[in-house]
Amino acid sequence: MEHYQVAIIGSGPAGFTAAIYTSRALLKTIIFEGMQPGGQLTITTEVENYPGFAEGIQGPELMEIFRRQAKRFGTETRYETIKKVDFSVRPFLLFTEADKGYSADAVIIATGASARRLYAKGEEKFWGYGISACATCDGFFFKNQKVFVIGGGDSAMEEAIYLTHFAKSVTIIHRRGEFRASKIMVQRAKNNPKIDFLLHTVVEEFLGEEKGPAKKLTSIRIRNVNSNEEQIIQADGVFYAIGHTPNTEIFKPYLEMDQNGYIITKGKSSATNIPGVFACGDCQDPVYRQAVTAAGSGCIAAIDAERWISEHYK
Ligand code: NAP
Repeated sequence: MEHYQVAIIGSGPAGFTAAIYTSRALLKTIIFEGMQPGGQLTITTEVENYPGFAEGIQGPELMEIFRRQAKRFGTETRYETIKKVDFSVRPFLLFTEADKGYSADAVIIATGASARRLYAKGEEKFWGYGISACATCDGFFFKNQKVFVIGGGDSAMEEAIYLTHFAKSVTIIHRRGEFRASKIMVQRAKNNPKIDFLLHTVVEEFLGEEKGPAKKLTSIRIRNVNSNEEQIIQADGVFYAIGHTPNTEIFKPYLEMDQNGYIITKGKSSATNIPGVFACGDCQDPVYRQAVTAAGSGCIAAIDAERWISEHYK
């Protein structure tokens, strides 16, 4: 079994920042990149608010720079997903999907969060056949088509604006009359002539054509939550922007979490309830969820891990 001083699970801004710091502290570090190497920024387009990039930068490019910077200081990367951990023993044990085991003196969890689903009727059937949670990935397939975005947060506004580059029309469906999104983002969406809004509305069902294995979304059944009135409207594509769920399932037997599954860290530190296990980034942050705050918390986790290792192992 390969042994590392620090094992980092997750490869977004939190994980790679932690790796840069622990590797520069000369700790033997491995990072497991997981199912979405680079994390959520790899499914974003322009990042305008990451400091240091005055003209903005594409999300995937930013993550490639993070990766290069970590590797420059010796971080080892694996394109593997950790599917099981054992935090009851020392060193800690981590197992990949292929059942390969690794051991580590300290573990930094930076597994981020994943897009939430509605679980509405027909969703499962048409997922990937008209329904998507990533405008950046799939917007291109909806040239001159009629698409919808579900949600009222910044992601919904951002995805809707992005989709106007391809689609004929974009309608934001939101369950309330007020938006959670920042005023500037709502204003940008409202100013865009291709974007309309369907407020106080929810999607009840996804409908489409099925010919053998070929499937295609063609319409959605929506309901006005005030009047309960339902209608079926034509839809070529529907994009989810209804928030995220932290990727923390495998740690549930060991770590304290809030009711939504976000890992609880102590005070301003990254310490979890298990000494030697630290958490950073979106898996422990339901509030800020920004690339720069994730990176900052990755730095905190690395410093905490380094201090913990020097107290216990040197
Ligand atoms: P969010 O702020 O949590 O918004 C989720 C939206 O989805 C809310 O409007 C919510 O409605 C709706 N929703 C949740 N569950 C639903 C359901 N089952 N059915 C229908 N609607 C549902 O998530 P987000 O937009 O992904 O943003 C997450 C964080 O990232 C925020 O802090 C945001 O500011 C940030 N962000 C920033 C930028 C930027 O600055 N460029 C871009 C994207 C995201 P309710 O409002 O009724 O709860």
